[in-house]
Amino acid sequence: MKLGVLDVQGDVTEHVRSLEAAVGSLGLDADVVAVRTPGSIGSLSALVIPGGESTTVGKLMREYRLDRAVLEVAESIPIFGTCAGMVLLSREGDNLKEGQSLLGLMDALVLRNAYGRQRESFEAELDIPVLGGGVFPGVFIRAPAFERVWGGCECLCEHGGKVVLARQGDILASAFHPELTCDTRLHEYFLEMI
Ligand code: GLN
Repeated sequence: MKLGVLDVQGDVTEHVRSLEAAVGSLGLDADVVAVRTPGSIGSLSALVIPGGESTTVGKLMREYRLDRAVLEVAESIPIFGTCAGMVLLSREGDNLKEGQSLLGLMDALVLRNAYGRQRESFEAELDIPVLGGGVFPGVFIRAPAFERVWGGCECLCEHGGKVVLARQGDILASAFHPELTCDTRLHEYFLEMI
């Protein structure tokens, strides 16, 4: 099977590495590929939408019709959005750029730059019950957060009174960057959805 990382902008290589490590720990038979055409998304068993800049990623996705391709597979494969990817997966947004469009796959209201500007980026130890014991290293870089979730969207972790990890069906979103750490538990949790 093929696991894809959307290669439009952002930390694609880091996600490829984390997925490869998670594939190794789970003993899966899978190739991890960077995808940048609508045609290559249809053959994936899972897709990651990396962090970057959600306005740029969203614009390029529209331009290259990747948004439609993602919406087409959303019912059938797990999708994991981190940081800017979390913004894009949301149904509603606060502090969005004018004209910024979202994929609307999660029943959530996202706040862009929820913790302030780039210089307010931080690390925090997170308690994520679905990963079992032990804290998870949360790397927040001009991070968003869900201010509100409803419907099928479930909060899996909160930080500072905001939702920083959530799941809706087989769609997962994190405000932080697990791919910038050596901890592959969240990528493994994601791959277990396949
Ligand atoms: N603040 C950025 C945005 O809105 C996300 C930052 C990130 O992905 N590290 O797109």
